[in-house]
Amino acid sequence: MLVVQKYGGTSVGDLERIENVAKRVAKSKDEGNSIVVVVSAMSGETNKLISYAEHFSSNPPKREMDILLSSGERVTSALLSIALNQMGYSAIALTGRQAGMVTNSTHTSARIEKIETDNIQKELDKNKIVIVAGFQGISKEGNVTTLGRGGSDLSAVAIAGALGADLCEIYTDVDGVYTTDPRIEPKAKKIEKISYDEMLEFASLGAKVLQNRSVELAKKLDVNLVTRSSFNNNSGTLITKEENIMEKPIVSGIALDKNQARITLRGVVDEPGIAASIFTNLADEGINVDMIIQNVGEDGSTNLGFTVPRDELERAKKIMLELNPAKNLEFDSNIVKVSIVGVGMKSHSGVASKAFETMAKENINIEMISTSEIKISMAIEQKYGELAVRALHEAYELDK
Ligand code: ADP
Ligand code: ASP
Ligand code: MG
Repeated sequence: MLVVQKYGGTSVGDLERIENVAKRVAKSKDEGNSIVVVVSAMSGETNKLISYAEHFSSNPPKREMDILLSSGERVTSALLSIALNQMGYSAIALTGRQAGMVTNSTHTSARIEKIETDNIQKELDKNKIVIVAGFQGISKEGNVTTLGRGGSDLSAVAIAGALGADLCEIYTDVDGVYTTDPRIEPKAKKIEKISYDEMLEFASLGAKVLQNRSVELAKKLDVNLVTRSSFNNNSGTLITKEENIMEKPIVSGIALDKNQARITLRGVVDEPGIAASIFTNLADEGINVDMIIQNVGEDGSTNLGFTVPRDELERAKKIMLELNPAKNLEFDSNIVKVSIVGVGMKSHSGVASKAFETMAKENINIEMISTSEIKISMAIEQKYGELAVRALHEAYELDK
């Protein structure tokens, strides 16, 4: 079998853990597999590098950030390769460039354009264990790029897709995908199989166990994706096509997204084109607007509220202040988004009303709502986020 294994930050968090990973890789090799390993930086390393840059500048040049941040993954790839070679295995570490990971030039959140697999293939043909530094690539201009936070998952899926690997295993610090973050609700249950679409919603709504773009790509390239723990041998969660899943629960899980902020515009002139100009200006800056509500104000003007990722609030604020589309502008980062996800919702009613009842019972005010075929999201005050997750988890009997 050709297997791509990705090990996340905690799994390679110190030298002992890198040694543990080396042993796991060696075991899989002994079983006769061809292996490409994709590694993250040691846990905390990427944040540390960011804080170093922030020591000098609140807005460091993104090209330089990419050179800085890509170093974390290179350290781990080299150390793992050294460990494996010492154990008598023939391994070789490759940087993103050497692995043929070609991206566009959007520094710090580059998109993969293609993978030139010749180099990886050449080393696999020599029966080597190939270890690729995740999260990074090279632009056509020859600059180092990175793929956005959590991007090593994406590196692994992209490589698995390009090589036509039989399996892509994402090793992390939990046994798989749970009905909610087990750090918030210890009663959360592991999900055996989940569809790409549900997992994509889950990941986009805050369940960081898989990066959302990696799930999107896995679906597109039909990659068999499994998340497992690098600390035990438990079976993990298979992310697969919906038709491969027999039992479809109405609600599969609850997600919490803390990276949210709200912008409220009061007294927006009520004429055609205003909303277009507001949202076009934000979109041009690459800012993702999520929940939107509009209602009628007192004097014929309208009020408009919407959410943006919290780490983009400062940029959004600047754009709004320049555009000045309303009498009154408010910026609020005291909110979180809690979401209920499940493909079964498509064919069942009453899912939303149960969510609203649960919030009412806990005395939590719902500030915004948005829905799709397979999810319901509610913006609520930050301090109630984890309480809401636990209450919803119980209300939908996900602990059963
Ligand atoms: P890695 O460093 O291996 O990439 P991450 O920290 O990115 O790992 O993702 C794993 C974490 O995701 C877990 O420790 C867990 O707290 C969190 N998480 C959030 N939601 C879920 C969920 N539904 N199921 C499992 N883990 C989740
Ligand atoms: N090291 C990068 C991050 O912390 C990429 C990753 O771990 O996937 O975001
Ligand atoms: Mg991750």
